[in-house]
Amino acid sequence: MSVRIIKMLCTQMIFKGIHADNVSPIFGNRLPRFCSGVVPSKQTFTKMSGSPETKAFKVGVHWLKVLFQIHLHLGGAYGLWLVFTQANFVTTLLCSFFVFLGMIGLTLGCHRLWAHRTYEAGIVLRTVLAALYTFTCQGSVYDWAVTHRVHHQNHGTPLDPFNYKKGTFYCHVLSHCMENDPDIDRKKRHGETKDLEEDNVLWYQHWFFWFVMPIWGLLLPVNLGMTMGDTLTNSLFVLGFLRLVILLHMSWAVHSAFLVWGLDPKDRKSGETWLVFFITKSLWPQYHYLLPWDYKSGEFGTYDSGVCTTVFKILAVLGLVEKPTTISSGGVKKALAAAVETGKPLQECLNAHKATVKDVVEESQHNS
Ligand SMILES: [Zn+2]
Repeated sequence: MSVRIIKMLCTQMIFKGIHADNVSPIFGNRLPRFCSGVVPSKQTFTKMSGSPETKAFKVGVHWLKVLFQIHLHLGGAYGLWLVFTQANFVTTLLCSFFVFLGMIGLTLGCHRLWAHRTYEAGIVLRTVLAALYTFTCQGSVYDWAVTHRVHHQNHGTPLDPFNYKKGTFYCHVLSHCMENDPDIDRKKRHGETKDLEEDNVLWYQHWFFWFVMPIWGLLLPVNLGMTMGDTLTNSLFVLGFLRLVILLHMSWAVHSAFLVWGLDPKDRKSGETWLVFFITKSLWPQYHYLLPWDYKSGEFGTYDSGVCTTVFKILAVLGLVEKPTTISSGGVKKALAAAVETGKPLQECLNAHKATVKDVVEESQHNS
């Protein structure tokens, strides 16, 4: 067996687990005995569930996940109470800073870089972003990016892991407390993930997550709070529980922002809810589902503004990000015209005008 096959096999096993589907492209019909029968192959699965697009399984609530979330949120609520009653100001300041770092790992790393490839980055920035996401204790970057791709590809359908049509509570909270859905798992296994599997940084982050996370994401921040003079209780509940709960909701909000910050383009009822008094609603979340490769598309309902995009621009000035992709207003006009003339889907016409920022700047200079 050549080194290439061993490498392919290891990559498949590490990212997707032992599954007949994963090793069949490598071994053809000569599947190793331990792979066959572990879980059904794609063919067997299709027979079981009918059309690959049809939902054949009903999944229930995973009560262990519910219990975990209840305990985590109770700890976070106590941490919030400690912030206002007895925690040192430095501890609160550290918590805010750690939330900011985790948010950068989540938005600029998992979302804009790995899930949507809105820009390219060298190994230094990729390592930093993967380390920042590990700091949130939410698991593998690979898993987050693959799940988010499946979410975009099947947005608002039964195969969307965070289907907004089931309501805000399901989309934001309950979808994270459900048993694994075999249909969605199959979508994840058969999606376009080659670019992620070839990224060595993701390979190490995925493989070593459970070794690194307890020290890097839990012990270190709590210890830092105590080193700065606060008590173990304050450090544990503010820098531990509260920080993790805030970051968890930020991560969940990336999938539910559509409901929280977005307008419903059809009936606009969502813009008339009480949320409109507290949250600026706009159509930018919908824009993100139309053009997910635009680096300016903010996770929380903004375009070309917000903390994450500002950090992105600073990184661009420092030369750490390359080839950010966007679309010019001329490109949008051409895409709209093409969609009307040819009858092709608007998304397809817009994708044809995807350009790097450098190209857009050159185009505007050329036109002026
Ligand atoms: Zn997205």
